Amino acid sequence: MSDYVEKLMTEVTAKNPGEVEFHQAVEEIAASVDLIYQQYPEYRSAKIFERMIEPERVIMFRVPWLDDQGEIHINRGYRVEMNSAIGPYKGGLRFHPSVNLSSLKFLALEQTFKNSLTSLPLGAGKGGSDFNPKGKSDLEIMRFCQSFMNELFRYIGSCTDVPAGDIGVGGREIGYLFGQYKKLKNEFTGVLTGKGIEWGGSLIRPEATGFGVVYFIEEMLKTRGEVLKGKRVAISGFGNVAWGVAMKLDELGAKVITLSGPDGYVYDEAGVSGEKIASMVRLRATNNDVVAPYADLYPGVEFYQGKRPWEVPCDIAIPCAIQNEFHDQDAEALVKNQCMCVCEGANMPCTLDAIQIIQHSGVLCGPGKAANAGGVAVSGLEMSQNAMKMMWSREEVNRRLREIMQKIHETCYKYGQKSCGYVDYIHGANMGGFLKVANAMLDQGVV
Ligand code: GLU
Repeated sequence: MSDYVEKLMTEVTAKNPGEVEFHQAVEEIAASVDLIYQQYPEYRSAKIFERMIEPERVIMFRVPWLDDQGEIHINRGYRVEMNSAIGPYKGGLRFHPSVNLSSLKFLALEQTFKNSLTSLPLGAGKGGSDFNPKGKSDLEIMRFCQSFMNELFRYIGSCTDVPAGDIGVGGREIGYLFGQYKKLKNEFTGVLTGKGIEWGGSLIRPEATGFGVVYFIEEMLKTRGEVLKGKRVAISGFGNVAWGVAMKLDELGAKVITLSGPDGYVYDEAGVSGEKIASMVRLRATNNDVVAPYADLYPGVEFYQGKRPWEVPCDIAIPCAIQNEFHDQDAEALVKNQCMCVCEGANMPCTLDAIQIIQHSGVLCGPGKAANAGGVAVSGLEMSQNAMKMMWSREEVNRRLREIMQKIHETCYKYGQKSCGYVDYIHGANMGGFLKVANAMLDQGVV
């Protein structure tokens, strides 16, 4: 750890006690910032990164709601408005028991770099609640979303802050949130993304994060003269990102052999393809958050309780579930099994130690803030379509998404070149994402 990183981390830990995920995200980026500061001292004297890691605003509020038995529950709601240098705050809402200020600040910081990489005018934010949707009825979800919006509506707007979905928040929740916003404000605007197709949504938005991950991997493989066709791919999770990834991989001729949930993983040697991909959506819709029933649906599928999928030999591994789900032992197992590429589909799924192991062994290592930017990129395209009051075709949105992902890869590749010849995609994403926001902050003065 360099002197700069050490000093910064001492300050960050003292100022944000107990926020371990936030510390981790800062530390991962700080090593890159140290190199950038050496190259461009004007950013150092303007304390750009030191300003970037302090949210512009944090909103924290009470979310009371009634369950189906009439009992009152109280959750905590948040919106971290992180950075508006290049556009309105933009980023998802997460409903998950792990949500707290630390996890949302880490996600909002990642979002700053991710949104900048898309090359669209998107600032960064993140929000959500420690509400657990598991086992809740549709009416309970609706009442919760309405109560959440009863407070959040004061702070958001199509040119101020535009939330979207994330873990636990999909099309249904966005519908309830949008309905309540419209009721309170009496206006129909593009204040949320991920909306339904009949009321302002964009085609491809549900699939976009997963499709984007696969487009990014395609570009990484090209640098080694490889293609996706015929590759065996292990993925974790079975939510929105995993679903989009599986669909695009299937289309491009790769074979998905694992899925996972908090209960364990399933191994499907025949491949998760066709109708099996649709069954992921049905499984998710049960609200039980377990993947085991997938193994009962199809012959030859095995379920491994309490285990992670990275012990299965594969060519490509894509962690698509949640932060810090992928550890150093997982990285070691994959390297031993001659995996050629590990790409983060979720936000910061790999620990810092795991990343070190992957990179030092020469395995391609795709950072989430670059690879999973396709979701927010299509959210940006949804905002453009809303502003123009028109709708692009599937082909048009897909073409733009693919182009954006190719450009993101180009940026990471350009800034990630190392003297020893290998490409450090983590540094490339950090530097590419940093420069645009940093220049805007310099232009806009000390605010
Ligand atoms: N939650 C997604 C992300 O992590 C999408 C955010 C958005 O569309 O605003 O990037």
